[in-house]
Amino acid sequence: MPLRFTDTMAREKREFTPADPKRVTMYACGPTVYSYAHIGNARPAVAFDVLFRLLRRTYGEGAVVYARNLTDIDDKIIAASKETGEDWRAITERFAQIYRDDTAALNVLPVTHEPLATAHIPDMVALIGRLIESGHAYAAEGHVLFSVTAFDGYGGLSRRNRDDMIAGARVEVAPYKKDPADFVLWKPAKPGEPAWDSPWGQGRPGWHLECSAMIETVLGETIDIHAGGQDLIFPHHENEIAQSCCAHGGAPLARVWLHNGFLSMDAEKMSKSLGNVKLVHELLEHWDGEVLRWALLSAHYRQPLDWTDALLEQSRTALDRAYTALRRLKDVTPAGGVTADGVIAALEDDLNTPQAFAEFAALVGAANTASGDEMAAAKARLLDAGAALGLLQRDAEAWFTGGDGDGPAAEEIEALIQKRKDARAAKDFAEADRIRDDLADKGVILEDGPGGTSWKRA
Ligand SMILES: [Zn+2]
Repeated sequence: MPLRFTDTMAREKREFTPADPKRVTMYACGPTVYSYAHIGNARPAVAFDVLFRLLRRTYGEGAVVYARNLTDIDDKIIAASKETGEDWRAITERFAQIYRDDTAALNVLPVTHEPLATAHIPDMVALIGRLIESGHAYAAEGHVLFSVTAFDGYGGLSRRNRDDMIAGARVEVAPYKKDPADFVLWKPAKPGEPAWDSPWGQGRPGWHLECSAMIETVLGETIDIHAGGQDLIFPHHENEIAQSCCAHGGAPLARVWLHNGFLSMDAEKMSKSLGNVKLVHELLEHWDGEVLRWALLSAHYRQPLDWTDALLEQSRTALDRAYTALRRLKDVTPAGGVTADGVIAALEDDLNTPQAFAEFAALVGAANTASGDEMAAAKARLLDAGAALGLLQRDAEAWFTGGDGDGPAAEEIEALIQKRKDARAAKDFAEADRIRDDLADKGVILEDGPGGTSWKRA
């Protein structure tokens, strides 16, 4: 089936055809690395990782070039450095690595290019120079501003009118602006702030400008897919379009625009003032990354997603079921050339992950009941579905026992469970409790059920 995506610019689902199927280009706006990512930040990383996987499957692994930037210079970074006294570069290097590690724990594949804003300052200065030359930007009091009245297409992505845009951008009406909607491409540095040389004095680039310059350098003038969160449509993406189109003689920045929906926390907006911000880093201390990934993909990427403990529990249960099926087939060699067609077809239709999960559940059911010759194909389909969704990337046995942690080895735990069983049989309940508490101290939780005692790592 051809790929179909809902294009924010066109406001409809359209068949996707890359300009060059041998080099399919996609860009997603990455994080500003001055603190931990919250789970809302992880949503685009995971959703567009499914897209990346689908494009690689469709066009070939080497044919897809995916760039996601890291913003490593910004007012917030400078503020964090002033507040803590830590060098701004140390802050950004640390949080860039935390972001990489945390997204890797969510089975997000490494991107092809991860441009750092500070590594592309000359590209940014050159791009601004061209915009001034072409009459789309002007320098004033150490700043360079983009002149929105010089670009007819401004507002085309967000479909906002001028007044809405001025109100929406909460622009400061600085005296050096020709028009209140004009936005900053370059800003002067205050004494002591990180700064780079430019024809307009020492300063740093504006955030919107960074993406336009990095896209141009790393991917080219017109890319196939530009992705990001809905909250970036205006002003960030609108401004990226203005800068790139005007620097490239009107050539579009992207052929398709994809935007993921908001994430709410127990039906409330996630915000610092409500104290309900959940960090990926903290969630990973309590939940396996695949559980978080499943939960993030449970709603269609364009739809809102409500994050709750119940959602996490359901996600873990679904994964437990899938891993149970895989464990049942652990000695079966998966059949060659068998694919999870239903799951793939769902993803080809605008990354419909809820439909893909329904198909996935059917594959789990089939793997649980398959016998004889069916088993090899059932296992192959389940693993292929997992590869497409970025799930089932763990060993089934390790999933249940978490065998990669510090705590005691599985054999040791099993032996202690037997010892506890013997103690109970001998009515030595103090000894039985001691074994249970001892294991709990080591992070192993025992659960007594009708079928005997099972265990898991906390
Ligand atoms: Zn961007």
